Amino acid sequence: MKEIYGQPVYKVNVDAGFTCPNRDGSLATGGCIYCNNDSFRPSACTSTASLHDQIEKGIPYLRSRYGAERFLVYFQPYTNTYASASVLERLYREALDNPGVVGLAIGTRPDCIDAEKIDLLETLSRDHFILVEYGLQSIYDKTLAFINRGHDYACFKNALTLTAGRGIHIGAHLILGFPTETRDEMLDMADELSGLPIEFLKIHQLQVVKETALADLYAKKPFAVFGYHEYIEMLADFLERLSPDIVLQRLFAAAPDDILIAPVWNKTRSELLLDLDAFMEQRGSYQGKKR
Ligand code: SF4
Repeated sequence: MKEIYGQPVYKVNVDAGFTCPNRDGSLATGGCIYCNNDSFRPSACTSTASLHDQIEKGIPYLRSRYGAERFLVYFQPYTNTYASASVLERLYREALDNPGVVGLAIGTRPDCIDAEKIDLLETLSRDHFILVEYGLQSIYDKTLAFINRGHDYACFKNALTLTAGRGIHIGAHLILGFPTETRDEMLDMADELSGLPIEFLKIHQLQVVKETALADLYAKKPFAVFGYHEYIEMLADFLERLSPDIVLQRLFAAAPDDILIAPVWNKTRSELLLDLDAFMEQRGSYQGKKR
């Protein structure tokens, strides 16, 4: 972003009031088994405030705290392309109509995109930075079935085919640590994703949070979750096999303490990054080393 805009660009999180087909009954009602949107929605971002108010509130905070001048409006919770193209156009243009906003980051499911929505995003991307972040979580259909994603890996690849080459930036979300996968299978995902047209990747460790089906499963039959140092080593191994062209936007999750069940590490983001950096430096490791 510094190369494009000459300065850092900060995300303003908004909740535009979308729901999700995996929760509203279109596909299912239970959602993904790990899903508790409170675990990844900042408390300042709430759908009860209008989009305009959320952006107007978020920007001054980032300006005063970080000296920020350029912003991406981040449509984060639930499925942010889950509406007609005309509704999406109104919301996206409203978000872009703010001084300092250079683009959008849009979190969504790969089964909630179509040619008409891609046409809209392509049009917007002519004058703005438009990033679509597709939730994938795993490339294994056995895992996608276990977590009740409601789509398979082929669906994700179809979404990439629709999106690639249209001037739209593409991101993906991945979770490491599902009990359905071996460590080697998790590492193989780095090779697989490196061959896809993905520019940005968000990874995090599987977290068991309250009020989810995963929490019920975990209570009945606890499964192994990553220990802190085990996860650092896993990340280092994963990054060595990941293309150096993929920009990492996240390496771990931090659900609020009051809803997190496992794993409990009591580490901040910066502690994890410093520890990962030190670990990788110590073993002469870097992203893409094993490609
Ligand atoms: S697709 Fe996203 S919002 Fe929908 S149930 Fe799964 S994790 Fe939750």
